[in-house]
Amino acid sequence: GNEEAAAKAAAEIADTGAPTIFDKIIAKEIPSTIVYEDDKVLAFRDVNPQAPVHILVIPKIRDGLTQLGKAEPRHAEVLGHLLFAAKLVAEKEGIVDGFRVVINNGPEACQSVYHLHLHVLGGRQLKWPPG
Ligand code: 5GP
Repeated sequence: GNEEAAAKAAAEIADTGAPTIFDKIIAKEIPSTIVYEDDKVLAFRDVNPQAPVHILVIPKIRDGLTQLGKAEPRHAEVLGHLLFAAKLVAEKEGIVDGFRVVINNGPEACQSVYHLHLHVLGGRQLKWPPG
């Protein structure tokens, strides 16, 4: 169906290492609704929410982390920081009783923006398994 076609189209975007739209969000050149920010990470509402709460948590400096599969030992600290920020965001949004943290890695997982990001989803009954 339509959804599948859209997913497939998104999945064809490759990891080229080019700048992404998230650089502009970090630079505040394009607007976003920021819900949490510190020196290392930025969290903002997804423009196309898949749940009542859908927030993206990203490292402010990409440093080669286009996707989780490209992580190297030097990234371990920021990866932990991102996950802890996801928990702070869930608390702030009042969804600690049920939320999901997702990382789509690569074309087969429908990753569409090649700047590592955690999705924090909640505010409704989530289904399992995801599609
Ligand atoms: P991915 O498919 O790569 O895991 O997730 C990328 C996410 O970024 C998608 O959920 C998409 O809706 C979101 N997104 C793409 N462009 C923008 C944007 O310009 N602003 C915001 N707030 N979200 C975006």
